[in-house]
Amino acid sequence: MSAAFLVSRPSVARAILAPAPWPRPLRVLRTGTGRVEEIPVEAYVAAVLPGEIGGHAPAAALEAQAVAARSYALARRTRHADLCDAVHCQVFRGLPAATEETRAASRATEGLVLVQNGRIIAAPFHAVCGGKTARPRDVWDDEENPDLMPVEDDACRDAPGYSWSFSIPRRELPHLAAALGFPVARFLEIFGRDDSGRVSMLRLAAPGGASRVVRGFDFRKAASEIWGWASVRSTAFEIAESRAEYLLSGRGTGHGAGMCQAGAIARARRGESRDDILGLYYKGAHVERSLP
Ligand SMILES: [Zn+2]
Ligand SMILES: [Zn+2]
Repeated sequence: MSAAFLVSRPSVARAILAPAPWPRPLRVLRTGTGRVEEIPVEAYVAAVLPGEIGGHAPAAALEAQAVAARSYALARRTRHADLCDAVHCQVFRGLPAATEETRAASRATEGLVLVQNGRIIAAPFHAVCGGKTARPRDVWDDEENPDLMPVEDDACRDAPGYSWSFSIPRRELPHLAAALGFPVARFLEIFGRDDSGRVSMLRLAAPGGASRVVRGFDFRKAASEIWGWASVRSTAFEIAESRAEYLLSGRGTGHGAGMCQAGAIARARRGESRDDILGLYYKGAHVERSLP
């Protein structure tokens, strides 16, 4: 835009020189009421952090989460209105959910986003990785995923949910198998793992030899719907089979892609910076200021 152009078109110049409200507010679909609310981006970021990582986590972890949450929201802004207020997008319980600390984290990172190949990424995050993060494309195949390298992480080892076990009684297997579209199944085994060691495929088998292979992600989702999220907490597990049950022993809680929140909190407590944390968990992306 040349100066001459601005001078010859004063009305346009005014529009350009006025402080631009950027980025425009997010339009958030409130699933309870069905209404769409316009929320300024930074106020939105401050308000979602408590639901994602807690309202009082150490500053570097809150700031790392603020960058991730802002990136996620801006990259995903065409989902419904822009985003909904539920787990499907990012849990938003209204502006009063923000705390002094989360507002500070939003201010300290204002406009910062994670970028890869010139695009803001829908930065994924999860509760506890259990020792190694997952590659996003191994978790979801139905969306545009950033390409992030799996990284080893021992910072979350003291977190609840770092290791877990869950028993599926044999008599309950048909119930789970029905949810996966194969109710005749009576046997279960691991059928494939991804680069990070997570279970990518399981095989359900029926007496007589029929079988069906299901994705690890779908298996965990079906188990969570039946027994709750604290049953099969992740897809990083082994299965021990006995007469009475399938005993799953696993590590981590959540899908495992991107930032491990328990690890981020532990790292912040021991003095690592926001950029250390983001650089580790989002290896392959970098932080940019998206404000013009
Ligand atoms: Zn949504
Ligand atoms: Zn971790």
